[in-house]
Amino acid sequence: MRWKPGVVFALILLAGAAETAFAQAQPLQTQPQAGAADFEKLYIDALGWLQGMIRIDTTNPPGNEMAAAKYLADILRKEGIPAETYESTPGRGILIARLSANSMPDPSRALLLLGHLDVVGVDRSKWQVDPFGAVIQNGYLYGRGAIDDKGMTIANVAVMVALKRSNMRLTRDVILLAEGDEEQGGQAGMKFALDKYWEKIAAGYSLNEGGRAILKNGKVQYVGVQAAEKVPVDVTVTATGTSGHGSVPVPDNAIVRLSDAIGKIAAYQTPYQLTPVTETYFEQLSTVIDPEIGKWMRALDNPVRSDLAQKKISEASPVWNSMMRDTIAPTMLNAGIRPNVVPSEAQATLNVRLLPGNSIDGLLLNLKNIVNDPKVAFHADTSVGEAAPSSSLDSELFKTIQQATQEEFPGVPVVPMMSTGATDSAYLRLRNVQAYGLLPFPLTEEDTLRMHADNERIPLDSFRKGIEFLYRVVSDFAVAK
Ligand SMILES: [Zn+2]
Repeated sequence: MRWKPGVVFALILLAGAAETAFAQAQPLQTQPQAGAADFEKLYIDALGWLQGMIRIDTTNPPGNEMAAAKYLADILRKEGIPAETYESTPGRGILIARLSANSMPDPSRALLLLGHLDVVGVDRSKWQVDPFGAVIQNGYLYGRGAIDDKGMTIANVAVMVALKRSNMRLTRDVILLAEGDEEQGGQAGMKFALDKYWEKIAAGYSLNEGGRAILKNGKVQYVGVQAAEKVPVDVTVTATGTSGHGSVPVPDNAIVRLSDAIGKIAAYQTPYQLTPVTETYFEQLSTVIDPEIGKWMRALDNPVRSDLAQKKISEASPVWNSMMRDTIAPTMLNAGIRPNVVPSEAQATLNVRLLPGNSIDGLLLNLKNIVNDPKVAFHADTSVGEAAPSSSLDSELFKTIQQATQEEFPGVPVVPMMSTGATDSAYLRLRNVQAYGLLPFPLTEEDTLRMHADNERIPLDSFRKGIEFLYRVVSDFAVAK
């Protein structure tokens, strides 16, 4: 996912201390008519595959994802699952594999499992083990991508293999896409796959990264399923002024003008807005979270108290704040060529995240009025993100996830989420795919915060439980009863 680790902190701040062993987990009963996939063997195989994947350095840039795609293709072919790799640019590309239900595939019913092959960079000096060594220590597998996103990719592969080994009769095709370049926008990955191979991956439903199974005191507190994501737009703010010699300053200074504008923008509070996904998110979350904040979540639909409730919730967490409104984060500055030269122009970049359905034009108009300076111009680059609709909370797949969660973690609610960061699911939603983010591994706050950070790791029993949970969702959805 394209976001900063700290962003999720507040979301699970109330989740509390690390633990293993899932008190309320129900062991997976193999399907009565199944060839009984041996989950012990599958887990051991999958652990080896994940270690193999982590040892292939796919840091993006440059990516090098083809090596990982070929590694997965070998695994799948050995299991008798047809798999193809496609190169987008030298050394980069995607893998596609498919389990067919019957001779007449119906894309509108098919399920697409996604996982990206690339990882973000590492600062080796900050790691206690080799980030690409796939070292197991104290019940954890360490490595860049252990969670984001090689753990998920291997869980997808394991589910495909389990379906194949147990010779399940499928009622719909199950397709696997492992794409490169997720962390840098998808040109060499998702966009390539959609442009060149849509007919090979076309599906009505998909599962991808983006959700959370939050672990607290040895119990899964809730399963967050991402059904929407905010839309990233980069806005360039350009201020102009009179250039000249640094020893003769004049009031019309581009940098001063820009600073004034950024100050006004930073003070601007966009209006609160709830979407169907965030309404349900807060409603569901209020049932399992600290009652002190839960009461305000329940007050969101009370016309008298909703303003105060929104204020209380957004003050309690920057993530909740970001889920309830369009956000504007100044991220870059660019001005000046010499210390003794007053520049004629100064620029800043704002990373805007719009709620689904909101337009950048409306927001820019407000910013222009607030800044109210004819020598400050705004330019929006909308190519960085996709204005995708949200996925339905009534779809067959969402209901299956709810059912499987009850089977796996009885009494644990499924909480639909809108992620503040972007994933490749957005591209699919634009093609009418009911796309959901489900990271099936029960994780504590501490472990979740290691994504994109130092010493990323996955607890071995969470990895195992995640495979079983994902298998339950996929088999409930795609296997004949
Ligand atoms: Zn990711």
